[in-house]
Amino acid sequence: MADEPRRALVIGAHPDDNEFGAGGTIARLIAEGWDVTYIIGTNGNKGSHDPAISPYALAAQREAEQLAAAEVIGGARVIFLRYNDGELEATPALRLEMALYLRMLRPHLVFTHDPWKQYMFHPDHRAIGFAVIDGMVSARDHLFLPGLGQVGIAVWRPEALYLWGAEQPDHIEDISATLERKIAALCEHHTQLDRATGWEQRVRQRASDLGREHGLGAAEAFRRMPV
Ligand SMILES: [Zn+2]
Repeated sequence: MADEPRRALVIGAHPDDNEFGAGGTIARLIAEGWDVTYIIGTNGNKGSHDPAISPYALAAQREAEQLAAAEVIGGARVIFLRYNDGELEATPALRLEMALYLRMLRPHLVFTHDPWKQYMFHPDHRAIGFAVIDGMVSARDHLFLPGLGQVGIAVWRPEALYLWGAEQPDHIEDISATLERKIAALCEHHTQLDRATGWEQRVRQRASDLGREHGLGAAEAFRRMPV
């Protein structure tokens, strides 16, 4: 259909990863009329240094923060998988889950963590990256999950996968017009962002350094994998 909107799927391990990784690009795509869906792998229930906080309360608060951030970014739909923080594994089950979302949502572009990034601490970032990449193959090739084709869930091949935090980025997106929106969306993650740590300055510096290298005011960098 000629007037069908372009679609992007952004898959992060925790509430806040999508905004850190691709917030400026996502805000720009939404402003250009794209339909954007977020998948958040875990409930983020270990993401705190507060010794008094309950993991249950933290998970609820982080879900609310993510919904608010998705509004600020321009209105992304949010799907919460609600796995426990720190316990994601790139199992066949998670791969299947990713393949189903890819086939059902039919995104033209997919964004996620680069699982090959060296010296990356968080296991969930590696696990979700690999599950997305593996799920992409199952979503794309008809001899994977052959029964789904029989019940109307057809194969889907996105145009490209964009990996953030990439060791060797080869693709730049201009976020000059949307850096402020990325920062504003990140500010919704109150449990995560203590201004005293200087996160905002680091995000701004990184975006402007990347932009300068490419003659832009601000940029995000990705490894672009054609699918
Ligand atoms: Zn994370």
